[in-house]
Formats: sequence, C-alpha cells, structure tokens
Amino acid sequence: MKMDTDIQYLQGVGPRRAELLRSELGITTVGELLHFYPFRYIDRSSLQRIADLQPGQSYVQIRAQVLKVRLYAKNGAELPAEQLKFNMVSRMSVIVGDGSGEMEIVYFRGIKWLHSKLIPGSVFIFFGKPQVFNGRINMAHPEVDSPDSFSAGALSGVYNSTEKLRNAGFTAKLMQKLMGSALEMVLPSLKETLPDDVLREKGLCPLSFALRQMHFPTDQAALAKATYRLKFEELFYLQLSLVKQKFIRSRNAVGIPMPHVGTAFHACYKALPYSLTGAQQRVIKEIREDLVSGHQMNRLLQGDVGSGKTMVAVLSALLAIGNGYQACIMAPTEVLAQQHFANISKYLAPTGVKAVLLTGTTGVAARREIHAGLEDGTIGIAIGTHALIEDNVRFKALGLAIVDEQHRFGVDQRSRLWAKGAGGRAPHVLVMTATPIPRTLAMTLYGDLDVSVIDEMPPGRKPVQTICVGENKRHAMHNFIRDEIAKGRQAFIVYPMIFENEKLDYKNLELGYEEIIKAFPLPDYKVAIVHGQQTPQEKEFNMSAFVAGRANILVSTTVIEVGVDVPNASVMVIESAERFGLSQLHQLRGRVGRGADKSYCILMRGYKISNESKRRLELMCATENGFEIAEEDMKLRGPGDLEGTQQSGLPISLNIASLAKDGLILSDARNYAEHLLDSDPTLTKPGHEILAAELRKDKYSSKDYSRIS
Ligand code: ADP
Ligand code: MG
Repeated sequence: MKMDTDIQYLQGVGPRRAELLRSELGITTVGELLHFYPFRYIDRSSLQRIADLQPGQSYVQIRAQVLKVRLYAKNGAELPAEQLKFNMVSRMSVIVGDGSGEMEIVYFRGIKWLHSKLIPGSVFIFFGKPQVFNGRINMAHPEVDSPDSFSAGALSGVYNSTEKLRNAGFTAKLMQKLMGSALEMVLPSLKETLPDDVLREKGLCPLSFALRQMHFPTDQAALAKATYRLKFEELFYLQLSLVKQKFIRSRNAVGIPMPHVGTAFHACYKALPYSLTGAQQRVIKEIREDLVSGHQMNRLLQGDVGSGKTMVAVLSALLAIGNGYQACIMAPTEVLAQQHFANISKYLAPTGVKAVLLTGTTGVAARREIHAGLEDGTIGIAIGTHALIEDNVRFKALGLAIVDEQHRFGVDQRSRLWAKGAGGRAPHVLVMTATPIPRTLAMTLYGDLDVSVIDEMPPGRKPVQTICVGENKRHAMHNFIRDEIAKGRQAFIVYPMIFENEKLDYKNLELGYEEIIKAFPLPDYKVAIVHGQQTPQEKEFNMSAFVAGRANILVSTTVIEVGVDVPNASVMVIESAERFGLSQLHQLRGRVGRGADKSYCILMRGYKISNESKRRLELMCATENGFEIAEEDMKLRGPGDLEGTQQSGLPISLNIASLAKDGLILSDARNYAEHLLDSDPTLTKPGHEILAAELRKDKYSSKDYSRIS
C-alpha cells in the first residue's frame, strides 16, 4: 500500500466510510489520512481530581463516572429523563464523580447525541475549563472521550470530527485504529519527501518517524521533533516554489539597465535640508542595485507613515532620469497626488528636472500640453492619479513606475502601467505601502517580490500620545480640542464606515457632526466634513479647507486614511475605535505627529467591547511601532484577514504550519530554499529529484504571484 492508495482500500474503511471521509474531511488517500493530524493531545499522566479543581484554571482533564443526567426546558422546568423531543431541551445537566468529589457538567448544544452517550454508570474523560456557577465548580461543554480509546503511550491524539462522522461511528478509537493500520501498511515502503542533505543539514527527523509520532507520540520531545519536521517541510516547499519562480522570472525578464547615477540625483542629494536616515540610505542602495542589474525591478517598499518614503521615491526617479528615462509616481487620490507634487517639486528645484501633475481634474488644454511633453520627453517626472494610466498617455521612455499605497490599485491598472515601458520593456516597479505587513507574510504573499523596509523614523518626529477613553470623557475630549485649537492646532475626528453597516454608520456620522458643530460653533470655529456620499468636488473642497488651515476640525470617515499630510494637526480622535482593525487605527494615528508639536490620539471606545477589542486598543496605547502592531494584528486575526491582503489571499493553504506563529521556521525555510537554489538552480543534483518531483505537485504549479494584487 502506498501513500496515494485510495482510502477505501484501507482495512476498516470501505466505500461508505471512504465517501464520508471525503465529504467531511476532504480525505481521499491513505497519505491524506496520515497527514490529518490530531489537533490536540491528551496527556494521560495529567488527570486531575475533581476535589482539586480551581476556578480560573485553564483546561483540565478528569476521569469520572456519570452519576445523574437531567434535562431542562427553556423555562427551567425539568423534563423526563426519557425525553424524546430534543428540540424542547435547552440544557442538560450531568453530575459526575471520580471518588474525590462530584461536579456538574452542563451542555446547551448537541444534547441528543450526548444524551445517548452519557449513560449513568459509564466512565469518560472530560476535557474542559472549570468555572464557578452558583458558588460551585462546574464545567460547560467539556469534550468527552472514552477512557479506553487510547493506545499505549503517554500522549494520545484527538482528531477533529463532525456530527456526521460521529454518527457514522468515527469515534476516537476508530480514528486511532485507522491511523494505526495506515502506518503499518505504508511505512515499510514509505518514500522520504526531503533529500538526505536537507535532512542532515537541518537536523530533521525522517518522514516515517514524523508520521508515526504525530499520531502515536512516545513523549513531548518526539512529538516536537515530528511537528518541527512537518512544519519545516511545508514552509520549505512553499518557499522553494516561490523562490524558484522568482529565479525564473528574473532570468527571463529583461530589465532596462540603468548603470548611471547622473547629475540630477547628485544635485537633489546635495541640496537636501537633512541627511537621510540609515534606513533610507540602505533602501536607496537596494533600489540602485536592482536598477543596474539588467533585470526588471519588482520591489515592495514598506515603511511606516512618516518614515520618509517620498524621499526614496524622488531619488529613485532621479536615477531613472540620470539614465535618460522618465519616471511616474502614481497616488490613489487627487489630494495625495497634489501633495506629492507640491513636496516633490521642492526637491526637484535644484535639479532642473521638469515634473507635472496629471489628475482627473486637469483641464483639457493643460492635459494636451502634458501629453505632448511626456511623449517628446521634455517632462521627466509625471505625478498623478489613475489619469496617468489612461490609454492616451504615452511616454517617450518610461523607465520607472512608482505606485504609492499598493492596495488601492487593481491588478488591471498595474498591468496598464507595465505596458507603457520604454521600448516595449516593462518599467522597473516600486510599490510603496504604509501598511506594514509582517515580514513572514510579505515573504509569502509577495514571495517573488523583493521587499525593502524603512524601519527607522527621521529624527525629530515626536511620539504621539495615545489614550483610550469611554463616553464619560466626551466633554473632556471637547475641552481638550478647544485648548489645542487655541494653540493654533487642528483636529481630526474619524468615524467608522463599514459597508455592511453603512446606513447606521452614516447616521452616527451625521449625529456626531451635529454634536461637534454645536460644541464648536461659528464664528469661532470652523468644522469641515468629508465622507463617501459627497461628490468628488465637495470632498476636495472640504478636504482642502482643512489642509489649508481654514477649518479647525475635520469630521470624516476613513477616506482620510491614506497619506494626507497636515503637519498642523495635533489631535486625532477615533470614534468607536473598537470597530477598527489594528492597522487601520495605526494608519489613522499616523496622520498626526507630523509637525513640530506634541500630538495626541484619542480612542473613543464603546461601552461594551469584546476582550479582543480591548487588547487591540491597549496595544495601540502601548506602542507606535507599525511592525509590532502588524505582527499582533496577524496573531489576533490570522493572516487571511490582514488589511490589504484580502484580495491576494494566501498562495496555498497550510496544513500544519502557521504564518502567524511559525515566523522563525518560515524565514529559516526561506533562506534555505534560496541557498539550495543558488547551488542547484535546476534541482538536478543527485538526491534532489525529490525536490523537483514535489514541486510538480498540483498545489505548487500554475500559480502566478508575479504581481501584487
Ligand atoms: P511617508 O511618505 O513615508 O509617510 P514622508 O516621505 O511624507 O513619509 O516623510 C515624512 C516627513 O519626514 C516629511 O516632512 C519629510 O520631509 C520628512 N523627512 C523625510 N526624510 C527625512 C530625514 N532623513 N530627516 C528628516 N526629515 C525627513
Ligand atoms: Mg507618503
């Protein structure tokens, strides 16, 4: 029997059970069964006595006999024990005893099945969390295992199951029996899936040992070894496939060679009013290496809000100019494009390079002129919005495209940019994002991109003091804003706006706005409001009133999230802060603290909030480090939900490793995959046939990660 043998031929399975395994767990082969690992292990040496249980203890396990079972209706009335109408039962109380004492166990769901199983007199192992109810210890919804279902060995695996499987007799005992016979049948002829040199160099245990230990661990140490090997293998092949594609692409994608630095770069550099941070210098060096390499650059630049990405963009653009090419810088909104244009023009003054602003509101005449200038090459740098990628925009020699805030651009839009490169070659691409994602995730999501990180803030940026308060502090918050306005500062007040809840959210925004104009009346105060239901003109108008300092307060939805720079703003109030994700909160907070003054972020929280929300808000108050926040966000929500990554999704689903928790193994696997491909790019060295064969498997083939989505 082999790993790919149909599961129905395994002893004890047969066609009917095979069908269930397929539909319920997606298991079709013996190998898939063996890769279905326990989600938990019961340590039989750690049984507790009922008399010793304490409330607040984490999960414990008791071995106890069922003494009495009672059923209750919704209204609390006891129902006869031989109850047949289970839809009337809302609670089942089970009294169990283990000689040291007795306790109550309660169930609210799955009662019918449990009722048939928990017969008075029978003994089970219950796994759950002790709690206090009416002054006594009890347990709600513990897992139930039969005490005789365990094989020899101290640790015993518990497998995920479903109602259907349980009803069909897939008990813990049966699962263990199946695993046992699968191992027995398969192990003698099992093919190792990692080459010898990898096993040796990484100190990994053989596959046969790993599989046996996953299902029947002899002890914790052996289980840990097995788990490590399987996690490493999973992440290693994922990275190997990504790195291999990247190698192939960089060999095939001819880039526009840019060997020179040029006078414009030097002129700008010399005139800088500050010196670059170490991180900025490092990133510019990384970009420069890409540009001279002859390969097309595909680089993601991550850096917190205010870390100085604009400067990196400008200097990169000037490298392109220095080689006789043009550059464009694309921003997601009109306001941002304008701000970039204003900032960048200052930096360009000493260079003589001509930059233009091209957006949806550029007039017809100006537009015609710009189109002509881009086509004849008199314009070096085009800054703008989507207007830059319209079909009638043609560059004489576009060599570098810079995209600010990656997740606002669709794949389609980016590919249009690619098509505008000089001489039919794709321009070098630099994507900048202020939404940091953990490096481990970046390595996987953007596995074939190079990632640069600015992890250092320019000197002089003052920390933003963050506090989290409830409704009872609303007046104090208003007074605080008044004080800041009296000092000549401005304030943001942001409301959540979530698609599913739009109507209610607009209502809250409206009420909030009314309250603010009452608390901050004309003529002493001016309040602007920006939200998604306004026309672009209204939005522009209100936004620029605030940017220019004509309004003291900006009430808005999250439309201001993306990079607008108002250095004079010193207060960021976030309403219903618990409803925002961590990275969104971080982005919003980054809007203040950009000027010379001390800045504040006030998180207004609702009355009743979940523990998870509480932790998020506490974390916001505790740190300003975007990467720390992103790591934590990933742990709280899982990688799939991280902002800006939803569309891209994960390239493959992981069975045992976790991107959130196994970051160290992931980077190790990544480094090793790179090292291996460096020494054996075609994977043809003796022993490496296994690698090539694994990569040919469906899950690694035909994925195109070439562009960020
Ligand atoms: P980002 O786009 O990464 O959010 P910016 O490029 O807008 O950040 O830079 C934020 C502010 O920091 C700008 O006012 C910029 O002039 C300033 N800045 C950038 N680099 C430096 C530096 N090396 N030293 C001092 N100030 C800097
Ligand atoms: Mg920016």
